[in-house]
Amino acid sequence: MEEPVPKNYYCSICKKHHDILLPKDLVKNRESYPFAHIFLHKLEGSSSSIDDVGADILTTLYIDANLAIRGSEVKKLAACDIISKDDSKNIVTELMEEMARLQDELTRIQKENNDLKMELDQLKSSK
Ligand SMILES: [Zn+2]
Repeated sequence: MEEPVPKNYYCSICKKHHDILLPKDLVKNRESYPFAHIFLHKLEGSSSSIDDVGADILTTLYIDANLAIRGSEVKKLAACDIISKDDSKNIVTELMEEMARLQDELTRIQKENNDLKMELDQLKSSK
């Protein structure tokens, strides 16, 4: 595998340059150039308020065919924009519990169904 290329871009929210590594094959098979490379980074820097520490910043880099960064856009995400790991964990837990409950119910209904079938067979044979 080819070595990723160290690059940096200016982030107007953190008010500093961030170093990143870009894999060379990032530029391959793009419909047009420059193309948008989108990712999240955590807010850095001392100028930010307590609330903003660790905030996710949606980063869009415009990269040309030579892997040069032509431009960058940054946008701080509000907490509600993306589901946090904790929230998604809770959702998964709830779904698992619901599935277990439905499984129990299915087992109960299947048993009931079998009982009814047996009852029906007995009724038929008794006639
Ligand atoms: Zn930044």
